[in-house]
Amino acid sequence: MFNALIVEKDEESGKTSAAVKEISESDLPEGEVTVAVDYSTVNYKDGLCIGPGGGLVRNYPHVPGIDFAGTVEDSTDARYKPGDKIVLTGWRVGEAHWGGYAQKARVKADWLVPLPAGLDTRSAMAVGTAGFTAMLAVMALEDHGLTPGGKPVLVTGAAGGVGSVATAILAHLGHDVAAVTGRPEQEDYLKNLGATQIVPREELTDVTRKPLESENWSGCVDAVAGAMLGRVLKQMEYGTSVAAIGLAGGAAIEGALITPFILRGVNLLGIDSVMQPYDNRLRAWERIAADLPMDKLEAMVQPATLSDLPQLGRDILKGQVKGRVVVDVNA
Ligand code: NDP
Repeated sequence: MFNALIVEKDEESGKTSAAVKEISESDLPEGEVTVAVDYSTVNYKDGLCIGPGGGLVRNYPHVPGIDFAGTVEDSTDARYKPGDKIVLTGWRVGEAHWGGYAQKARVKADWLVPLPAGLDTRSAMAVGTAGFTAMLAVMALEDHGLTPGGKPVLVTGAAGGVGSVATAILAHLGHDVAAVTGRPEQEDYLKNLGATQIVPREELTDVTRKPLESENWSGCVDAVAGAMLGRVLKQMEYGTSVAAIGLAGGAAIEGALITPFILRGVNLLGIDSVMQPYDNRLRAWERIAADLPMDKLEAMVQPATLSDLPQLGRDILKGQVKGRVVVDVNA
């Protein structure tokens, strides 16, 4: 028997509830690889899966946790053998398939990536889905011509999970990083990650009728969308790109939208971490091991246990979590 955070749904009221319970290996879903989980994390999607709406959950009872890192215990797939260290993000694990909020998980071998040299299971989850997505965003901006030495790169939702890791990676790569935050008290935290300037959230959330503004940014990792993305697009330098990864500030982009695209050749790059092919995932994890300073990563970490998760799920949906929550499922 082992511990798991189980989310159940009362069919009559439609209400869901989450609690740590004991389950056994025979309860686990089908898959080629059984993993002894060390760590998982708390992402925005986990908040949705733990919370009362349960929006993304496809089956009940459910074990959330959209990412985890651990050690292979048993495998019917030749690519993995007992003792191998692995990391998993994406593939609707934690939504349609039981995820990482348990001491064991069983998944498809195709969904895993071997832990790259330079990362252990804890640091891999300090990165987690948020950091993996931040790296995909940086790689997409580079593929579209971003190089250090130009105007600042903007990171929105900077004190959150994706924003924190994006700030640290971009600064480490030599970019001048402008971090947008609605939490002025996080200025020291963001500067410690390498941000060279802090932009208050209100400066970018006022909708303006202007079709374009001055060209301020050589790239942007945007976790927020909504009114802010509408403003940011108008402030991009000619021919540069915004990597859009999330919608913490709303799904609708507001403002005179077409002008940045046709008058400044701005690119809007959509980043999806869920369905990345194996080679991309491996490349991103190897870049993370190479380009993310581990001391900066440590500064982002808030430790947690399985029993902390119901509260943390509520906090992340309110934008109140700083950096990365690393869940020690065995604590
Ligand atoms: P977090 O909650 O950790 O961070 C989001 C940050 O956005 C907050 O910390 C806050 O930063 C800012 N924010 C929150 N609400 C608002 C608002 N109303 N207006 C402006 N800013 C706001 O979440 P993550 O970083 O983990 O994820 C961010 C987004 O990215 C989510 O929408 C998530 O679903 C998505 N995502 C997408 C992935 C993909 O594959 N595309 C993968 C991972 C996440 P601050 O306090 O600094 O202002």
